[in-house]
Amino acid sequence: MKLPKEEILEIFRQTNALLEGHFLLTSGLHSPNYFQCAKVLQYPKYLHLFAGEIAKHFEYSDIELVISPAVGGIVVGTEVGRVLGVRTIFGEREGTDIKLRRGFEIKKGERVLVVEDVVTTGGSVKEIVQLVHAGGARLAGVGYIVDRSNGKVQFDAKTFPVLTLAVTTYTPEQCPLCASGSAAIKPGSRGLQ
Ligand code: ZN
Repeated sequence: MKLPKEEILEIFRQTNALLEGHFLLTSGLHSPNYFQCAKVLQYPKYLHLFAGEIAKHFEYSDIELVISPAVGGIVVGTEVGRVLGVRTIFGEREGTDIKLRRGFEIKKGERVLVVEDVVTTGGSVKEIVQLVHAGGARLAGVGYIVDRSNGKVQFDAKTFPVLTLAVTTYTPEQCPLCASGSAAIKPGSRGLQ
């Protein structure tokens, strides 16, 4: 059974991974929420809880390799790989593309699970999927902790997000929080941590 959404949100709030207020996002849009997954994954019990959900979902998928995009995906990918007891690697951006470095390899025919922390546009995961196909391996699934794509991003494989977290954004001109007189702050500013 999936973890109840309210329980997950409560963990995110308690660990300050999910902040409520009035935020200026890097896109220039304003939002009443800010989510930073790394904040919750600092705590081994929550890392284990969420990675365990992903591992459980794919436990009968005969996974032989876990691969994640750096940097955000590495922590959760490593824990999923540990729970499944399989080799775990990551791809990292070099110039414009994500590549395998450090002597990492994807072997022909291997059944591969791609793991990420947060999917917003899905770009990094799609690049990792291309590496899987290019290596002649088989994509067994894609697992991630949070889907922030508002359901828009789809992968051509068995997909499992632990939680779907709706994103509310406004242009500064249409922002009701601005209209009520508050000022948007950049996440990570002093006083937020
Ligand atoms: Zn605003």
